[in-house]
Amino acid sequence: MTKKIPPPLPTVLTISGSDCSAGAGLQADLKTIHALGGYALTVATAITAQNSQGVASVYPLPAQVVQQQLHAILDDYDVQAIKLGMLGNLEILNTVIHCLKQINHPCVIVDPVLISSSGCPLLEINALSVFIKELLPLATLITPNIPEVNTLLEGGGEILNLPFQGQKEEISSIAQALFALNVNAAVIKGGHSIETLATDYLVQPNEPNGATIQAYSSRRMTTQNTHGTGCTYASAIATELAKGATLNEAVKRAKEYLYSTLVHAEQAQPAHQKTPNQAYKVRKGSLNHFVVDNTRIPNNSAC
Ligand code: PLP
Repeated sequence: MTKKIPPPLPTVLTISGSDCSAGAGLQADLKTIHALGGYALTVATAITAQNSQGVASVYPLPAQVVQQQLHAILDDYDVQAIKLGMLGNLEILNTVIHCLKQINHPCVIVDPVLISSSGCPLLEINALSVFIKELLPLATLITPNIPEVNTLLEGGGEILNLPFQGQKEEISSIAQALFALNVNAAVIKGGHSIETLATDYLVQPNEPNGATIQAYSSRRMTTQNTHGTGCTYASAIATELAKGATLNEAVKRAKEYLYSTLVHAEQAQPAHQKTPNQAYKVRKGSLNHFVVDNTRIPNNSAC
């Protein structure tokens, strides 16, 4: 009898920095992709020393080492989606751009990782204009949060009267400003907004000069366990796309997954050192990537 060979897993290549505390970066991507049924291929751009308190140091790898990893992966695997996170510096950015231009891949998700939430730069400032001019147009989708939208628009010369604050009325003009930078589609994440719900907006150009806007909302959670939410979200979108979902479906499912990883984060915290008064000194905990109870976003929080 011939043995039935199971179908291969959808592959997602993540190109990002290593987070030794495994809450963000490559390690978060790896967990997310596998939790959602994909196979993660990883290209490291940098080694960071960090923990729940913040990023202590960043060591970008030589660009040649990044290039060799890309070759090793792309020579052997059929990559269904590529997710970009921390790129570190201009040399690495240029290496990745060169590779993306050569392979002309149809599914590239760019999480514009510029600075950690603890304030550490994860992309050198001199790389910002190349990031905007050359990388953004190569992305199928970008996933900026509100501060990242402001930095990209300002860096790209799109003048806003006031900083973008994530309000619904602003989305259409912000979408146009992003399209002016040759952005193909964006999930504008509302985590930093002043609105009651955490609403993310998927914006796509709609000829001749409109925008299709789809909102995805969830309850805003008061939790300190948010380390690596951006990496996890973008990786989840990439994995759903690799599995064959449409962009809308992929964002919807990724948002639901992220919500579950946040709601159940408390049950999946690593043991920490205690302070002299016997309290744990966790500033920012990690997510529950292998959450089993896929908690649905309550209906009443839909837009
Ligand atoms: N470290 C690395 C390597 C990352 O790729 C990211 C992703 O944005 C971060 C840190 C940021 O993590 P945080 O959620 O703590 O801002």
